Amino acid sequence: MSTNAGALGLDPRLWEILACPCEAHGDLVADEPANQIVCTVCKARFDIDNGIPVMLIREA
Ligand SMILES: [Zn+2]
Repeated sequence: MSTNAGALGLDPRLWEILACPCEAHGDLVADEPANQIVCTVCKARFDIDNGIPVMLIREA
C-alpha cells in the first residue's frame, strides 16, 4: 500500500502536469466514486487504465 498516492491512486506529480486536452486546458479534478478524471471547464471525463489516465479526446 502506498502512502504517497494522490487522488485516484495517481502520483501527485502526475496531477501537477495533467491538463485537459480541450482548448481551455481546464483543470482536472478526481471523481473518486466513478474512478474518473473530470475537466472543470468542458466536463470531459477520462478513465484511469492501470493507474494511467487516458487523456484522449476523440477528434471528429
Ligand atoms: Zn476540458
